[in-house]
Amino acid sequence: MILSSLNKFCHETIIRFTNNKSIVIDATCGNGNDTLYLASQIKNGKIYSFDIQQEAIDKAKVKTSEYNNINYIVDSHSNLDKYVVENIDFIIFNLGYLPHSDSSVSTKYETTIEAIKKSLLLLNSSGCVYITIYTKHDNHQEEHGILDYINTLSKYEYNILKYQFLNLDEAPYSII
Ligand code: SAM
Repeated sequence: MILSSLNKFCHETIIRFTNNKSIVIDATCGNGNDTLYLASQIKNGKIYSFDIQQEAIDKAKVKTSEYNNINYIVDSHSNLDKYVVENIDFIIFNLGYLPHSDSSVSTKYETTIEAIKKSLLLLNSSGCVYITIYTKHDNHQEEHGILDYINTLSKYEYNILKYQFLNLDEAPYSII
């Protein structure tokens, strides 16, 4: 494929917005794939990784055992301001639920939007919020809530991009 896949585009964006010393957040740790990629890029910075499921964090810890700069937190990302004291360069939300797991333990638009608002307060001026949305999981409720909120953000303060393959029906897409 000539265009980057969603996952490749995400990794390219991480490379663009972070450096070796960045402070970043994985707001939805899940199986730890995004946390692992962030840790592989940010050797001397810090990664905060949130999930409400202890089981997910335990799996991610095994996957990232060679890194010692990851701060795992079993709590909702809507409480991120209780744990993150620094300004951040990058935050990723990979919304929805863990594949092959209880689909009711899913991100919910109220807590997601609260977390996005809090992350914007912590974001460095050249930082990035990266959100991947799975449109189907709750009948578009979370997607529409996020889009409504994003529409309230000033075009003078934020550049907001949507990365979506338009000919893939109901495929996930990213908002950056
Ligand atoms: N980034 C993950 C990876 O690389 O494997 C995939 C994330 S998965 C699609 C979504 C995760 O969000 C689930 O593990 C779920 O437990 C978690 N989650 C749901 N609500 C949350 C909340 N309020 N705060 C933090 N994590 C939450």
